[in-house]
Amino acid sequence: MRSGLLLVVVALFLPASASGLSSAGVAALQVGLRAHGLYKGAIDGIRGPLTTTAVKTLQRRAQIAVDGLPGPETRHALGRFGRHPFGSRPLRRGTQGWDVAALQFKLAWHGFPSGVFDGDFGPRTKRALRRFQVWAGLHADGIAGPATLDALAAQPAAPTLPLSWPVQIPTLGNRFGPRGDKFHSGVDFIAPSATPVYAARAGKVVFAGWADGGYGFLVVVSHGRGERTWYAHLSRIDVRRGVLVDKGVRIGLVGATGDATGPHLHFEVRIRGAVIDPLRALPAVGA
Ligand SMILES: [Zn+2]
Repeated sequence: MRSGLLLVVVALFLPASASGLSSAGVAALQVGLRAHGLYKGAIDGIRGPLTTTAVKTLQRRAQIAVDGLPGPETRHALGRFGRHPFGSRPLRRGTQGWDVAALQFKLAWHGFPSGVFDGDFGPRTKRALRRFQVWAGLHADGIAGPATLDALAAQPAAPTLPLSWPVQIPTLGNRFGPRGDKFHSGVDFIAPSATPVYAARAGKVVFAGWADGGYGFLVVVSHGRGERTWYAHLSRIDVRRGVLVDKGVRIGLVGATGDATGPHLHFEVRIRGAVIDPLRALPAVGA
């Protein structure tokens, strides 16, 4: 009786993988459900009520046991999106399936998002994979074989340099992580237009101007050791490429240029090209 109780308690604290799927596995499931038009939630790797409801709908349609669990029959019902468990084959351009969706999710959490999580290994996935391979010191062939999958099992990049807040009294908007069917590569600080934006650490301005990819007016500051901070959607830029800035120097003003629905600062931290959660490098609010 006592050991039974212990098992229950232990089960509560086990990670998602213990319930049959890692978070990348859940993301792959969500990609498949979304492709079948059954799931409209975020590809976040979290098996919540929306995911379970979608699985049950799929099971009802396929006339298999309706238990909400993604067992072999359910994965079969997902068609090409349910095939190929992660690690069962090398992944390259043109491959599709469960493992490709899981790869895209893992790459994003390691700092190399590739656009929409869709289970399709296209040019963007290949580019992200090659950048990850360079980052991990692997042969950058754009093919995810055993060495790459091993590297993806290791911890993502961690910040080493402490930063200061790039805007005063920041209101947190979208955080770093899955957003819709993509991955948000930074953190959004909502602030009125023309709010000053400050360098989060001393460094050299390596980009200042209009940037593609929805960033709008963008400043990038390099802090050495491969660490860079990005300040996007600015309404005005106050620095030029090549200048050295101190921590706290005003580099521009908050705006809504590029893909922005309202004024905010999109702030990114990259370590040797890998995006990391900026909140991990910033001091706690009030500290
Ligand atoms: Zn953003």
